Amino acid sequence: MRFSPTGTNLGFPRIGRHRELKTALEQHWSGTLDEAGLRAAAAGLRHRHWALQKEAGIGLVPCNDFSFYDHVLDTACAMGAIPPGYGWRPGEAVSLDTYFALARGGRGTATPACCPGHDHGGMSGAGVPALEMTKWFDTNYHYLVPVFARGQEFAPTGFPAVDAFREARDAGFEARPVLLGPVSFLLLGKMAEGAGDPLDLLPGLLPAYAETLRRLEREGARQVQVDEPCLVLDLPDAARAAYATAYAGLAAAAPSLSLLVATYFGGLRDNLDTALRLPVSGLHLDLVRAPEQLAPALKGAPARMALSLGVVDGRNIWRSDLSHALALLRQATAARRPEAVLVAPSCSLLHVPVDLETETSLDPELRGWMSFARQKLEEVAILARGLYEGPGVIAAAIAESDSRQAQRRASARLHDPRVAARLAAGTAADARRASAFPARQAAQHARLGLPRFPTTTIGSFPQTAEIRAARAALKRRASTVEEYDAFIAARTEAAVRWQEEAGLDMLVHGEFERNDMVEHFAEFLDGYAFTRNGWVQSYGSRCVKPPVIYGDVSRPGPMTVRWSAFAQSLTARPVKGMLTGPVTMMQWAFVRDDIPAATVRRQIAYALRDEVADLEAAGIAAVQIDEPAIREGLPLRHADRDAYLRDAVECFRITASAVRDETQIHTHMCYSEFNDIIESIAAMDADVISIETARSRMELLAAFAAFDYPNEIGPGVWDIHSPRVPSTEEMRRLLDIAAQRIPADRLWVNPDCGLKTRQWEEVRPAIANMVAAAQALRATAA
Ligand code: GLN
Ligand code: ZN
Repeated sequence: MRFSPTGTNLGFPRIGRHRELKTALEQHWSGTLDEAGLRAAAAGLRHRHWALQKEAGIGLVPCNDFSFYDHVLDTACAMGAIPPGYGWRPGEAVSLDTYFALARGGRGTATPACCPGHDHGGMSGAGVPALEMTKWFDTNYHYLVPVFARGQEFAPTGFPAVDAFREARDAGFEARPVLLGPVSFLLLGKMAEGAGDPLDLLPGLLPAYAETLRRLEREGARQVQVDEPCLVLDLPDAARAAYATAYAGLAAAAPSLSLLVATYFGGLRDNLDTALRLPVSGLHLDLVRAPEQLAPALKGAPARMALSLGVVDGRNIWRSDLSHALALLRQATAARRPEAVLVAPSCSLLHVPVDLETETSLDPELRGWMSFARQKLEEVAILARGLYEGPGVIAAAIAESDSRQAQRRASARLHDPRVAARLAAGTAADARRASAFPARQAAQHARLGLPRFPTTTIGSFPQTAEIRAARAALKRRASTVEEYDAFIAARTEAAVRWQEEAGLDMLVHGEFERNDMVEHFAEFLDGYAFTRNGWVQSYGSRCVKPPVIYGDVSRPGPMTVRWSAFAQSLTARPVKGMLTGPVTMMQWAFVRDDIPAATVRRQIAYALRDEVADLEAAGIAAVQIDEPAIREGLPLRHADRDAYLRDAVECFRITASAVRDETQIHTHMCYSEFNDIIESIAAMDADVISIETARSRMELLAAFAAFDYPNEIGPGVWDIHSPRVPSTEEMRRLLDIAAQRIPADRLWVNPDCGLKTRQWEEVRPAIANMVAAAQALRATAA
């Protein structure tokens, strides 16, 4: 691999430091920015980002890492893997309209997400549906799942990597094009109707990749980064064989190109040999997630293979410990020529915000501990100088880094002795309810006196324009806290009255006071901080701004008791308290890296436990602890899953178990794959679980029935991701299916998820129909 004595980068955030891409995309979709305008805005961002990277000290900047929506979709489009129905014909270029129809569906409006990490990509209204969207490995980025036909043919519809390389060169930047590798591309996709194995399509796909590489070679590219993140997953032998075949073919196609195969988000483990045997010039390893793979890689890598070492964390916002990173790098150069060692971030910087410079109002001490994409590249560049020119050259930077690390470690703000003492005093009993479920169920039924098939909702009611306006006014101090509180009280009271009239059995307060199910709680907890511009792309134009957990988490005082108790004071029916659980609170944040993640989760669990106890003391008879993120926290490797699940379940139980038998603990999850985690879901031992089943027409209830799920369960009967109001008969049919699988004394009736993204015009009739369906079931069921 041709050597440039500078740092390298694997990819840069596309969205822009002020989310310029979001603005341009949304203007384009709403018809106020034409295609030329959108393309110009995108080019502007790319040029600025190249300049910024070069200025940070990156010699060879990545190109083709930009995307209007998603790079997996870009790959599918470039390779001609476009399912029928989107107005594209083989041989044609893919228009932007087709591209966005694949991403968002045709003509309808995309469904808003119901919570930060939980996006459905569903379509409402008429038109072709969008491709399915799913999480990109264990990140909060979502990609569009390519769909392959049986016997799918591939033919390049264009050469975006070549265009990007040329664009960069014309603008004066030497660039390394990034491609999503062929094996990962196939593994990330799925066959239409599940027929066949995508890997069988490899022979047909390789010529399209080979042609792309030949054209890049002809254009003058010297290195190409080929991302193969699937190499960090558990792979069948067939996939390992596919890697060998694929790269033998690609290396032969463009012999003068240096191919760098990039892996990230974990260690290669049992795939390391496969990777080291690929006939390529370089291999990128994530040494932040898996530092232990350096030694075997150094031992096994052939001399011709450069190792690109990801030593700067591309997934988190903390400043690097330069001494530690340099030590790793020098371990590599002790064994290999310096030209065979490249310095890089652990993965694409897509997963961190753009520039810490924009955080002008962040607490200076905390800010001093952080680094966003731009600062991370400066770290990479410094490390590269230290490695290639000698540590003496970067002595000042090392000294500064050391002192910052020491300052952070010693900061009184990180460690709260009371939190440590609380965890140390914890016992196994903290994670156990006083009695087993049958005794609790009897006590709860006696206390609550609910009818069979009780009706309830998942927590939130529509977040109307009026509510958002009231919150915005408070934020810019155009209204007082008293005025805002009075407004929230009025909305809550109206919601309670309406729920009583609608005939719901267990009420909620409506969550009108909450901006977001994580940030709202984080604002009440010690140990959390918030950025102003720390946006990361979740999918398309949608971004999230995760809170930052920097120190020990504790709860200075009650967080939700006020509104729950207020709502309960208005009605004789039970009002469910509503919390976000410890696993989700952590999953959707940037988490400190100086103590184990499991410790952070436990701290949150104890803080929330006190909230549950306070709700109980305030007379709340049921508390729902939402854990929509339990499944997405699953480690990428099966071998690591049990430990994670055990700990996640225990943390949930710590939160849930401080209460008396007659206090009913609910949980809620919204996704549709329970089969592989059903045991853990049962082990959470919530008295009631509500899940999303309406969209799958109760299919996923099968997992619960087959497992003989022991506690109560509310399978959703209304797909709340669509504005369509289901009829009583439709919900009744779903309930009949559910009633065949779940015993009558354990079946609840509720929507799939919270209703914050819906309109009252939909909520009122849908809930009326849902209540009617439950009443009809009561009337007929024996
Ligand atoms: N209680 C939350 C709500 O109703 C739950 C959201 C979720 O888990 N996705 O909005
Ligand atoms: Zn939900």
